[in-house]
Order: sequence, then C-alpha cells, then structure tokens
Amino acid sequence: MYKIMTPGPVQVPENVRLARSRSTTNADLDPVFFDEYKELCELISNLLYTKNETLILSGEGILGLEAACATMTEPGDRVLVLDNGIYGSGFADFVTMYGGNPVLYTSDYHKEINVEELAEYLQKDHDFKYAAVVHCDTPSGVLNDVHRICPLLKSYGILSIVDSVSGMFGHELDVDKGKMDIVCGGSQKAVSVPPGLTFVTISEDAKKVMENRSVPV
Ligand SMILES: *Cc1c(COP(=O)(O)O)cnc(C)c1O
Repeated sequence: MYKIMTPGPVQVPENVRLARSRSTTNADLDPVFFDEYKELCELISNLLYTKNETLILSGEGILGLEAACATMTEPGDRVLVLDNGIYGSGFADFVTMYGGNPVLYTSDYHKEINVEELAEYLQKDHDFKYAAVVHCDTPSGVLNDVHRICPLLKSYGILSIVDSVSGMFGHELDVDKGKMDIVCGGSQKAVSVPPGLTFVTISEDAKKVMENRSVPV
C-alpha cells in the first residue's frame, strides 16, 4: 500500500473507518443525531477556545469559505483580501461573485504577512467591512499570524474571515483571544477524516452583520 503525503485528503485511520461503518438513520428525523450534532459542535468550539457557535456543514472546505463570503458580502462592500498565497487570492473571486469589491493586499507568497507593514497600510486605509485571511496557505505552507492580524483588523472595526482549512487542529487556534469572526476548517486535512465536512465558527459580530443585511443572500 502506498502512503499519501499530501496536506489532505489524507489517509483515514482505522478508528474513523470503523466509526463510519455504524448504521445510519435519517438525520432529519432522528433525535439522537440532533443531540450528537449539537454535542460535536460544542466540542469543536471548546477545542478552538471559543464561546462562538460552531456549525458543521455537509460539504467540503470551499463550501464553508463561500458560505462565509456569501453571507457577509453585500453589493458594493469593500473587502480587504490578504493575499500572500493561492488560497489568499482565491477569496477575491468569492467577494466578486457576491457583488463586493475586493481590495488585494498582496505580499510575498513565500513569507508570512508582516503585521507591522499591514498596520501601516491600515492606518491609511481601513474602510473595509471585513477582511479575508488564510491561516496556513497550503501550497507554500506559509503560516500567517492570525492571532495578531485579526485583533489588528478588529481595532478598526474590520471583521475577519479566516481560512484555516489546513491549519485547524494542526496548529493551535485561540479564536476568542484572536478575535476571529468566522473561522473555517475542513475534515480531510489535520483532522484526518474523509472529505465532505466543513466546520465554521461564527462570532456575534458576524451574526449581526448577517442579520442586518439590506438584501438577502
Ligand atoms: C484544502 C484547502 C481548502 C479547500 O478545501 P476543500 O475541502 O478541498 O474544499 C481551502 N483552503 C485551504 C487553505 C486548504 O488547504
């Protein structure tokens, strides 16, 4: 048997494969599913050190990222896209798709975002509804210091969407201390289960933005 040496989808360990052989019921009707789902969401919030609600969506990582952009973006919104990698720049497409105006802050694809330089940039321009940032930009492996970047954004009232699909549970994330509004993870990277689930934590500030939309998603 060959070994898969990619960030994900990864090889699924035996205990996960055995768990998946449990008989299934109808998730829409089964109260046990409801309880287990709720418990699992709370567990994920705990592991991310956050009081924010976590949802598990049945779809791959990209679904969580697109759902976050779709619900946060309204036509004409200025959105800061922190672009120091392939996944970073990819956020601009989602913002455009939902009528927003992405403003790219581009820096070296082989280095983490320099927080001091970003702070200087924000002093001059901080009129953004939210910013998108990647925790670990997988193709390069660059790790951005989201625990410093997101509080800096928040000091200007800029909410954050963090793509931590490959970072989550591989590198520590303290969502509350880092003031991260929406954080997306995926099942098939560090968690080592099959692809097809995305975990999304949502802050109260992000929920307010969603509830106060003037046009529906
Ligand atoms: C893998 C990955 C994604 C996409 O996840 P899928 O589950 O394949 O949709 C998004 N962002 C990053 C940083 C990733 O590593």
